[in-house]
Parts: sequence; C-alpha cells; structure tokens
Amino acid sequence: MNISIQDLTKIYGNGHKALKSVNIEIENGMFGLLGANGAGKSTLMRILVSLMKPSSGTVTVNGIDLQKNRKAIRKMTGYLPQDFSAFPKLKTWEFLDYSARLGGVKNKRERRDSVDEMLEEVGLYEARERYANNLSGGMKRRLGIAQALIGNPQIIIVDEPTTGLDPDERIRFRNLLTKISSRDVIIILSTHIVGDISSTCHQMALLRSGKVVYQGSPEDLMNEAKGRVWRVQASHEQFDEANIKFNVISTIPTNTGWELEVVADSVTGYPAEPIAPNLEHAYVYYMEHQTLNL
Ligand code: ADP
Repeated sequence: MNISIQDLTKIYGNGHKALKSVNIEIENGMFGLLGANGAGKSTLMRILVSLMKPSSGTVTVNGIDLQKNRKAIRKMTGYLPQDFSAFPKLKTWEFLDYSARLGGVKNKRERRDSVDEMLEEVGLYEARERYANNLSGGMKRRLGIAQALIGNPQIIIVDEPTTGLDPDERIRFRNLLTKISSRDVIIILSTHIVGDISSTCHQMALLRSGKVVYQGSPEDLMNEAKGRVWRVQASHEQFDEANIKFNVISTIPTNTGWELEVVADSVTGYPAEPIAPNLEHAYVYYMEHQTLNL
C-alpha cells in the first residue's frame, strides 16, 4: 500500500488556509500525524476519506487518483472521526453490523462472525445488546474504533483516537493498532498527544499551521533535537526568571532549588548539562524554534 499526498491545499469558504501545499508519502504500517489543535489534521483526514475536496493538489492510493475513484477508495477505508457518534437507536452489535455492510461485507454469516470478533477485540462483547447511546464515554469510543476496523479495511484513518480513553484503554487501543499494522495496511493516526506517536509509529509528520514541518521517523526527529535539550539547575530565587528565560518542559524540586528540563539552542548563566532528547522535547523544539527545510 502507498498513499501519496501531493501539493495539497485547502482553503475554507471564509478564506482560511487550513492546508498549505502539503506533501506526504505514506507506506504500510502506522503513520503518525502530530500537530497542535488547529494545525489542520482533521482537514487532511477528511480529505483522505473523501468527506471534503481539496482546493488543489492530489492524493493517490497505489497510484490511483482519490478524487476520480472516491467510492472505491472509500470502501477500502475505515475512519474514526474526531466527533464520532453512533446511531442511538441501534444496539452495539447492530451498529457494527451496519458498519460492516457499508464496508462491503455482503454475506450475513461472515458479517456476524466479524462483528463478534470485533466486539471481543475491543471488549464490548458483553455490551453487544446495549443501545449505543447507553454506553459509557470510553465504550462509545471503543465502538468508534471497532466500526473503523471492521471489514478489514486496507486504509485505517483515526482522528484523535485516544481522546476520552482511560490510560489502560489507551494502551489497549495502541496494542490493537500495533497488531493490525503488521498486516498489509496503512494506519494513519492523527493526534496532538506526543505519547500516542512515540510507542507505535515508525513514520510520522509534524503539521504546524497547515504546513508539514517534519516528515520522517520519530527517531530522526529526536536526533534533530540533540544538543538542544538541557538539564538546568536553578535556585529558588532563580525559578521565576528561568521559567521566563527558557522553554521549560518539566520541573523537579531538589534540595537546593529546582532541576529544569529546557529546550534551547544554548544555556548561559545557569549550571546546565545536555541530555538525550525524547520525542516530546523534539516536538517542542520544532514547534517553537524552527521549521525544517524539507
Ligand atoms: P486540527 O484537526 O489539527 O485541530 P482542523 O483541521 O480541525 O485542525 O482545523 C485547521 C484550521 O482550519 C483551524 O484553524 C480551524 O479553525 C479551521 N477550520 C476548520 N474547519 C473549518 C471550516 N469549516 N471553516 C473555516 N475554517 C475551518
């Protein structure tokens, strides 16, 4: 599988440019799209699932133009929108049965098997007779995940999938996606939570104000921030000043004051040592300090 996004631009009716000449290449496996709220992630996702047309540019799936083959590509795509809600009048299993039918699973028996399997997979089997609007927030979210995965789509697009999930549910969801990503599929996971990306995605893009500012592996992104992350010692008196002066990621109290993790090209006036960047450091570095020339 391959998705190629070329020169994609989206200008909304009010003139807002939500995507600015976006170029992304996506291969099999899990792809993370990371960006702050308003960066343009949902806009891109909606274009990829043909819910919206781009203003210009193209998307091809295995070389086939999305705009010219919307129905066929939509059929091979599972989508979890950010604002997912199920039909309240359907039971949990009925909703999944309906989703499987939409996904092209025609055979009733086959559909029943895949519904049962999916209910088990997301831990909703016991709740299969409950109406969707009677499910808890976390369960609704899991139903959303299930309807995106049912029917074995080759492209899976999940927009902010871990919002509203408990930490254990978040881990379970990640494990489920990791399991599926070993197949011949593309999973695109959009999120503003750095932790969603680091443990699962081999490839990623960083979106800022509608522009791709980084594309590559999470490891390479971390390498780019090497030498720009510091552990800084500040006394109690220096604490406020240090917080203004530096881009502080975390603070830990010590016997003599504070130990701060900061992202900066250099640190002067404080005892400081460089530390190995993690993905969160690298994210902050890119978002606040620089735009990479791609
Ligand atoms: P994200 O998913 O990263 O939070 P969105 O794609 O939802 O970002 O939004 C990108 C930008 O486009 C935001 O500034 C948002 O306010 C704007 N936007 C989104 N939808 C519309 C719309 N229908 N009309 C005008 N502007 C919009």
